[in-house]
Amino acid sequence: MVISVASGKGGTGKTLVATSLALSLKDGHRVQLLDCDVEEPNGHVFLKPEITSSKAVSILVPKVDEDKCTYCGKCAEVCAYNAIAVLGNHVLTFPQLCHGCGACSYLCPEKAISEESRETGVIEGGHSDGVDFVQGKLTVGEAMAPPIIRKVKEYADNGGTVIIDVPPGISCPVVEAVKGSDFCLLVTEPTPFGLNDLALAVETVRELGIPCGVVLNRAGVDNSKMEKYCEKEGIPILLTIPLDTEIARLYSRGIPLVKGLPQWRSSFLELFDRIKVLTDERNRSTER
Ligand code: SF4
Ligand code: SF4
Repeated sequence: MVISVASGKGGTGKTLVATSLALSLKDGHRVQLLDCDVEEPNGHVFLKPEITSSKAVSILVPKVDEDKCTYCGKCAEVCAYNAIAVLGNHVLTFPQLCHGCGACSYLCPEKAISEESRETGVIEGGHSDGVDFVQGKLTVGEAMAPPIIRKVKEYADNGGTVIIDVPPGISCPVVEAVKGSDFCLLVTEPTPFGLNDLALAVETVRELGIPCGVVLNRAGVDNSKMEKYCEKEGIPILLTIPLDTEIARLYSRGIPLVKGLPQWRSSFLELFDRIKVLTDERNRSTER
């Protein structure tokens, strides 16, 4: 079972939910947390894992031999990411834009392009209190998060429960992190921005054909707009976490909610049970 924890925008408490869900499940399940929020991974702040392995992640970027090049422009034409340009008698490469797809070197008629390895980040693995932990870290200044996210997901424990902490937003890294999940939890807050970004996140997840449910964080006196939206869209609100100074205090000190307030563990176990029911129902309906 792979559960991704996403949010249409940053700062909604996505990592709070991902880490507390993992810690609640660890006694009865083989559980793993994959931190795919590679631009700013902070699952480790809460789980404080002992890191036992570290591996660099690289992509192959083009290297042009101008002695062979005829400046035909084919490479620039095929590059979908504007990572290579031909200006008169010069070929310019922009490694930070390159996705390492290899199209330019494959299609260069003069075989003037070779590929060289470029390090863009690191994958770290370890354990924390019964939770297997893997995180990706994109090197500061690098733009290509998806290759690191793909690498993190290669470590997914297929025999256990995998929780993916997804980058915020709805862009390519989000799609890369969420795709292949059995269920996506969307963490939001009852504000106009929260509602707007939730609607965008719902569209993205539906496009991927992944069932979803909402965790309403920092719920306050008026959650009615959020509730109406979820009802209209047929999206269940699976857990509500109130706006509470004690919870905020724990969060600011990097203490997981279920550790600081253990009574929340049962709520997260119920959340997991509800996810299981929803995914089972969905599997049954797709089998028919
Ligand atoms: S495709 Fe090859 S030959 Fe043509 S401009 Fe690019 S590097 Fe030069
Ligand atoms: S490897 Fe792909 S993304 Fe990179 S420059 Fe070549 S065509 Fe563009």
